[in-house]
Amino acid sequence: MANKRDYYEVLGVSKGASDAEIKSAFRKLAKKYHPDLNKDDPSATEKFKEVQEAYEVLGDETKRRQYDQFGHAGVSGAGAGFNGFGGGFSGFEGAEFDFGDIFDNIFGGGFSSFGGGARSAGGSRKARGSDLLMRVDLTFEEAVYGCEKDFDLDVVEDCEECGGQGGFDSKTCDTCHGSGTVTSEQHTILGSFLSKSTCPECNGSGKTFKRTCSKCRGKGKVKTHKTITVTVPSGIATGDRLRVSGKGNAGSNGGPNGDLYLEFVVGEHSYFKRDGDDIYLELPLTITEAILGCKKEVPTLYGNIQLTVPSGTMSGEKQRIRGKGIENKAHRNKGNMYVVMKVITPQKLNRAQKKLIEQLADTDLETREIEQFKKFTKKNDEA
Ligand SMILES: [Zn+2]
Ligand SMILES: [Zn+2]
Repeated sequence: MANKRDYYEVLGVSKGASDAEIKSAFRKLAKKYHPDLNKDDPSATEKFKEVQEAYEVLGDETKRRQYDQFGHAGVSGAGAGFNGFGGGFSGFEGAEFDFGDIFDNIFGGGFSSFGGGARSAGGSRKARGSDLLMRVDLTFEEAVYGCEKDFDLDVVEDCEECGGQGGFDSKTCDTCHGSGTVTSEQHTILGSFLSKSTCPECNGSGKTFKRTCSKCRGKGKVKTHKTITVTVPSGIATGDRLRVSGKGNAGSNGGPNGDLYLEFVVGEHSYFKRDGDDIYLELPLTITEAILGCKKEVPTLYGNIQLTVPSGTMSGEKQRIRGKGIENKAHRNKGNMYVVMKVITPQKLNRAQKKLIEQLADTDLETREIEQFKKFTKKNDEA
């Protein structure tokens, strides 16, 4: 800000210059320094900008007053490129020259840097359809073994009636004469110039139809309720996502379809508990089975097996059964199964059972572990 030249000096007018004098000085200088007309002078662009900025302030009654009072600080928002345009220059209709073509050249044929008058080039461009995400509930078994599943979903598809065209008997668009763009007038400090934007009639395709498709109302796309069948691989866990390629929404102008993502939530099983690809199963044992040992039929994901429970089994002890966990198609690994012993203490005994247990209690059942704990308890009380 400190190095800014005085705006009046930039335009070469006196402080008391009339609006008409300022306008005229600006036009002269804008022409003089226009970068397209001054390709040999590298400083032309800078000068052109400076002139623009000065006129943005001095050409506006309010801003000029602020500038007169406070200098550059009073109009510090000015000169921030084209963002500051918008209002304030409505009194500048009578432009004698058309900057349209020149501006096209400067900005590479588009006005994308302009907020409002931007030309959205998307109209006739190929675009990929959007992705869809669907939450899917699976039972424990469906997730473990994999499944074929039907999914109902709403998907945007090309209209069958018109083959995605939006209508029948295409003809050149009357509005844009086939160019796909329309030119509209833009008011800026440089005068009214012409800016191009996508033709609203044909959305940039340059073509319209003699008869609009009634099924899709000219959009070429319809929302369809669809059932698709998906093969869910085995080993799916909650939070896993499966991408179904090309089953998302239809693309535009021949662009590819989006993808469908399925996100799974897997239900629980009453007996099999899952930890990744490993399976845990609690095996309830009577006290005598635990004491004496036994053979037990144990369910696994792949049919029942015979398991030997050794004598003296404690509650919480685990037996690993290799390869009876979940077969995960994604990693091609099979998990293990862990059988967790759970000794069930009987809560009701009949008279005969009670008598037997009492007889048992009279025998010496105390192991070294129990004796040591007894000693610790005693010592703890003395201390
Ligand atoms: Zn058109
Ligand atoms: Zn249609």
